[in-house]
Amino acid sequence: MTDSSRRSRFSMPQDWIVLAWIVFMHVGALAGIFTFSWKALGVCVFLWWLTGGIGICLGFHRYFTHRSFTTSRPVEYFLAVMGCLAGEAGPISWVAAHRYHHTYSDTDKDPHSPLKGFLWAHFTWLFGREDVLAKSDSCKRFTPDMAKDPFLVWLDKFHMLPAAVLAGVLVVLGGWPFLVWGMFVRSVLVYHSTWFVNSASHIWGYRSFQTQEMSRNNWWVALLSFGEGWHNNHHAFQRSARHGMRWWEVDLTYRTIQLLWALGLASDIHLPIRTSANRVTVPVADFDVRSRLLLKKAVGEV
Ligand SMILES: [Zn+2]
Ligand SMILES: [Zn+2]
Repeated sequence: MTDSSRRSRFSMPQDWIVLAWIVFMHVGALAGIFTFSWKALGVCVFLWWLTGGIGICLGFHRYFTHRSFTTSRPVEYFLAVMGCLAGEAGPISWVAAHRYHHTYSDTDKDPHSPLKGFLWAHFTWLFGREDVLAKSDSCKRFTPDMAKDPFLVWLDKFHMLPAAVLAGVLVVLGGWPFLVWGMFVRSVLVYHSTWFVNSASHIWGYRSFQTQEMSRNNWWVALLSFGEGWHNNHHAFQRSARHGMRWWEVDLTYRTIQLLWALGLASDIHLPIRTSANRVTVPVADFDVRSRLLLKKAVGEV
């Protein structure tokens, strides 16, 4: 990396605000040592699942970015707010960055290319993210489906507001232990578990499909990120609601989508199917029966 490129990646003020925020959250998480209680740990784990698993993995990623299923407007807005609670970005900014990643995976244009090193792919890319996206005008180009929704546009602008409200609720309910474990410790867990998808799952693991980039299936990332670690499967079948394709590739987010379907809250579930000519994804209505066959075909077991 040259001095000039290093300077351009760490310019004021966006970069230092993001850096200060990340340091602040990690230092705050250290206070967890002094404020531990089993109740606070329970709040932390529940919110890790709600904001990371439901908000980011199911909401921002599988629903908003890839539209791997259809749902109602109230559920859509609920997912958007839960994603904001993760404190990573607003829905439009997050989706734009991720669609950009899929378009330019593992190239110079990839916002978090692993070719620039593990730390860059893991989190230092965030210090220049706005710069990258502004230059590419990707928010407009990559999220036309979201940019026309006034609520999503508003939420994207004020994406920290839900987290501020949650922090206040936690203080009222359980004082410092709930605040530290529910906001700081939980956020750090959400950050790293989702960041590992960009870093570790493009560096370590096995490849079930010969995709155009370096994506990997990584079991420990999948466990930490509610199924997102089966990243090679995901790059191969980007619109599929299901990332874990073999029986032992545990994918909690897909199981949650199945539950939403059973409750009548999700439909048009996209799953992978392999034709003789190429691989495509198709909407499957009665997926619970058909998906097993389709998936077995997809992984060559039939
Ligand atoms: Zn994706
Ligand atoms: Zn990827």
